[in-house]
Amino acid sequence: MQNQILPIYQEIDRFNYPNYSQKTMKEFLESLKEGKFRIPICQNCDSKIWPPANICSNCYSGRIRMSKLESKGRLIEHSSSFIGSSEILGLVEIAGIRLIGIIREGNLKPGNHVKLTKCGINKDNSPYYEFSVV
Ligand SMILES: [Zn+2]
Repeated sequence: MQNQILPIYQEIDRFNYPNYSQKTMKEFLESLKEGKFRIPICQNCDSKIWPPANICSNCYSGRIRMSKLESKGRLIEHSSSFIGSSEILGLVEIAGIRLIGIIREGNLKPGNHVKLTKCGINKDNSPYYEFSVV
């Protein structure tokens, strides 16, 4: 019996990416490393692909472009962390996607408008995000 998902792999071969399986995440992390927050967008249906993946979860297309996202969002919830240094962590929604990051200002309420002010990669290769209230 032939593999049912063959058409997807034919689509991938068409673009001739030898290391296709890691391409999107690699591009995402490389942008973050430069302090730029870019996420994959499906070229077929315009869906945001979050978390980053190589194939659109809406239409299964492998045609993906990286796109800058607006930096302003809304605070959903926040909490204090006492692991290492004391920090305020917040769950933020920007243009329909959610990120957890450090909030640099106090006196927060859910619904506050916040802005992504900094992003990058930690030494352990995990992404980090910082927000401030606008
Ligand atoms: Zn799609």
